[in-house]
Amino acid sequence: MIQIYIPLNFLGVVYREIKQNLTDLDKMFTLMDRHQEVADAPGAAPLALSGPPAVRFEDVHFAYEPARPILQGVSFEIPAGQTVAVVGPSGAGKSTLSRLLFRFYDIQQGRIVIAGQDIRGVTQQSLRRAIGIVPQDTVLFNDTVAYNIAYGQTDATQQEVEQAARAARIHDFIAAQPRGYETMVGERGLKLSGGEKQRVAIARTLLKNPPLLIFDEATSALDSANERAIQAELRAVAQGKTTLVIAHRLSTVVDAHQILVMDAGRIVERGTHSQLLAAGGRYAQMWALQHRSEVPNSA
Ligand code: ATP
Repeated sequence: MIQIYIPLNFLGVVYREIKQNLTDLDKMFTLMDRHQEVADAPGAAPLALSGPPAVRFEDVHFAYEPARPILQGVSFEIPAGQTVAVVGPSGAGKSTLSRLLFRFYDIQQGRIVIAGQDIRGVTQQSLRRAIGIVPQDTVLFNDTVAYNIAYGQTDATQQEVEQAARAARIHDFIAAQPRGYETMVGERGLKLSGGEKQRVAIARTLLKNPPLLIFDEATSALDSANERAIQAELRAVAQGKTTLVIAHRLSTVVDAHQILVMDAGRIVERGTHSQLLAAGGRYAQMWALQHRSEVPNSA
């Protein structure tokens, strides 16, 4: 069944899953069907929020396929307005946390609670409206830059679009194009670099102004000047919002209120950057390793 309103975030995640996991059309339809199985509970109410919410994962168990458990008893809280970052090896289950927060899948055991409300009891539309994601790969439509920034906010004015673009530091680049905000982008238009696409995603998120944010950091390395700039912009966007950062590089997480270290579907360490360094465990090892490998580049 075709929905009239499909949030961009949903498309982004589906697109990424298709890219990551699927090789043929049959499987794609299986995935779409699976997503449709997550239905609103009878009498589901809109998620009620009065400002940035606290988010809690309580003993969450989850498997995409019954034979292969992915999350095995994950519990943590993001207090209202704070930032929690998740690090850990590839396949640990970090991005799965963000898919579950969007309720693209239902969990098998435990609860995910936003502002005291179990996400299974609220409407999916209200849930997905409350969350903004800056994904690894931003999906751009074959349309104008203005359309791509305003996507989902049909009532946004040109002034608001430009304001968001300025804050995401992409305005000057757009203004320098002969057709400005009317420049076509995407497959058949202007090709944007990874950093420029991320800035469009940041501008889109700024315009949406959601109380809850997810940053799924790009795995593909940006050059370090670009990366530092993007990180500064992300920090500014996250100010005062409840934020989950899925981090692939440790440099992004240093300022988080709490860092969770995941391995094979479990949280194996948690604390602030300095607490985790002092503990001398997994995080400290990862930090030392990354630091060592970064030294030759920064010399
Ligand atoms: P990375 O750092 O590489 O992005 P991650 O920690 O974010 O890894 P996830 O994307 O959460 O890892 O994946 C956790 C596990 O779940 C992986 O083993 C992955 O193969 C599996 N997985 C992810 N998506 C699906 C899916 N749609 N169906 C089945 N298994 C999946």
